[in-house]
Amino acid sequence: MQEDWCANRRRGAMKFACATAVCISFSLGCATNVAAQTVEEEAPEPPQPARIYQAACPALMDGRVKGKLLPPIKEDECGENSPLEITEIGPVALTAPVTINCRMAEALHDWIGAVDETALGLMQSRLLRVTVSTSYHCRRRNNAPDGKISEHGFTNALDITGFELENGTRLTVLDHWPPVTYEDEATSEEEAASSEDGNEEAGTDEGPLPTLAQFLRSTRDDACALFTTVLGPEANALHADHFHLDLGCHGKGCSYRICE
Ligand SMILES: [Zn+2]
Repeated sequence: MQEDWCANRRRGAMKFACATAVCISFSLGCATNVAAQTVEEEAPEPPQPARIYQAACPALMDGRVKGKLLPPIKEDECGENSPLEITEIGPVALTAPVTINCRMAEALHDWIGAVDETALGLMQSRLLRVTVSTSYHCRRRNNAPDGKISEHGFTNALDITGFELENGTRLTVLDHWPPVTYEDEATSEEEAASSEDGNEEAGTDEGPLPTLAQFLRSTRDDACALFTTVLGPEANALHADHFHLDLGCHGKGCSYRICE
């Protein structure tokens, strides 16, 4: 309404009204309005933050894994542009949602499928649930104050502590892996990662392994074909109760694998 009035005023259509106090008041209003518009037009655009493009994950899109895409993570030196929160791998539930990247989700799907086949072959039961521990965690290897960031800090690692089968069997890495003697005290993730030999496999000179131990050994071996780093009880005492699985890069061309 005021703008219409101002337009008329500029055309001189209401010349007579300008003798009144009302006109003065409206005139001031026009001046203020025009000035505000000028400032608004001339104000520089505020800087826009760089857009982060997130990538879709085929395993999530086609239902091989269930979960959702999370917002990008950026925390100190850690982070991931397209993190996922995964709750199920195929028909197998995880005991808690895990935050991992798409490549890990793909590899886990293939590994869980192999674990399920092993359970069926060795114990005539399908895999029901996988007990998970740490997934994303911004820390350095072995929680050290310095050194390289762990693959956990890039959503590129997951720790597995056990399995539950449909027939009610519950296995843990801690209780059912064959006994291991830690003679060389190689306790660091980095030392384990740099070791090319690994420790001697326990239990091989004491007759056949119990079925549950065979199962765990088989799941570890299957993991070694799919992940670039697999650290279990035979790596060091820090991994006595879990398998650490990651897709970190080792060696030139990222072609070297660590399987312990
Ligand atoms: Zn780990």
